[in-house]
Amino acid sequence: MKLAEENSTVAADTPEARRYNRIHRWLEISDFVLGLAFLLALLLTGWNTVLRDWAYRSAFQNYTLSVFFYVFMLMFGGKVLGLGLDYYGLRLERRFQLTTQKTRLWLWDEVKGFLVALVLASFTAELLYFTIRQSPQHWWLIAWAMFMVLFIVLAQVAPLILFPIFYKFEPLENEDLKQRLVRLSERAGTRIRGIYKWNLSEKSKKANAALTGLGATRRIILADTLLDHYSAEEIEAVLAHELGHHVHKHILKSIFVQAGITLFGFWAANYVLHLSIEQWGMFDTLSDFSNLPLLVLVSTMLSLLLMPAMNAYSRFNERQADRYAFESIRSVQPFISSMNKLAAQNLAERTPSRWVEWLFHSHPAISRRVAAAEAWQRPTLAASSRS
Ligand SMILES: [Zn+2]
Repeated sequence: MKLAEENSTVAADTPEARRYNRIHRWLEISDFVLGLAFLLALLLTGWNTVLRDWAYRSAFQNYTLSVFFYVFMLMFGGKVLGLGLDYYGLRLERRFQLTTQKTRLWLWDEVKGFLVALVLASFTAELLYFTIRQSPQHWWLIAWAMFMVLFIVLAQVAPLILFPIFYKFEPLENEDLKQRLVRLSERAGTRIRGIYKWNLSEKSKKANAALTGLGATRRIILADTLLDHYSAEEIEAVLAHELGHHVHKHILKSIFVQAGITLFGFWAANYVLHLSIEQWGMFDTLSDFSNLPLLVLVSTMLSLLLMPAMNAYSRFNERQADRYAFESIRSVQPFISSMNKLAAQNLAERTPSRWVEWLFHSHPAISRRVAAAEAWQRPTLAASSRS
């Protein structure tokens, strides 16, 4: 980290950072388009019904088992199709020296990721078709309620069950940092349940921090890549930001927002399913699980349409957490330097174009976050120089 960068407001993006982010963005878009093409191909060629018949025969005509086989085939097909792009993603991280992960470990992570996704997807699909069969009239309302319960349970157990499948976590042992957190929390009039070291360095050179969990599992996780290279004041600034998410109840609020969107999503899914049966003649019944690609397509299109709005909402929350951090730390200087360090370490674009930020970024651009910190500092400085 060059001193010049730390002291200046915001350094310009290096050509390297621009190139990395451009390729990374195209990779994500390609991945998305490939998934969409896969779903459309299934539906337009009628393979969705061919696969259904296969699944049904292989499962000895057991409905529940055939739903599982069907989900497995769809996910396996999707995974095999996307594996090339996934591997290119690893190569990209290596090319820009953002990871030292060995191919074998990466493959193992891919396998674990696939299995976790398979368990979650088949469970939700079983739940969905069970509900459709039990209550063809109101399935979408009942399924929505069940999904929300599942979602909340998942948010709660994720730090205990899901994250440890991929990363090691241990309670933070640094006493100085713990004391700083306690002081921050006291000032906030709140209590955080725990602060954990997240062993990210085995897989990435990037740094990160997050507030995760819900209720009793709510905790702040700090990547070791951050803990090892940032000053105590800088880590405190990062902690203060995460505490801001906690104080403003961002996880809970996001669940409410998600609930509204999911309700609309289920309503839309029901509407499209009825169209596909009554108007397009694609399926005979609601419970024909070869309509699963259509359901996934509906939810994918909905999340695509809502992406700018969801990202705007997330950026709003991030700005709120930043403001909380400015209020609770003594000086915003460590916040600014931590932002600059993070940008350099993660090869982030500090000044993405307006439309890139608007479409893709869940966080405000680093340049804007730094500018906000400086703007916050100025009146405070003026006030203290008067006194
Ligand atoms: Zn944040």
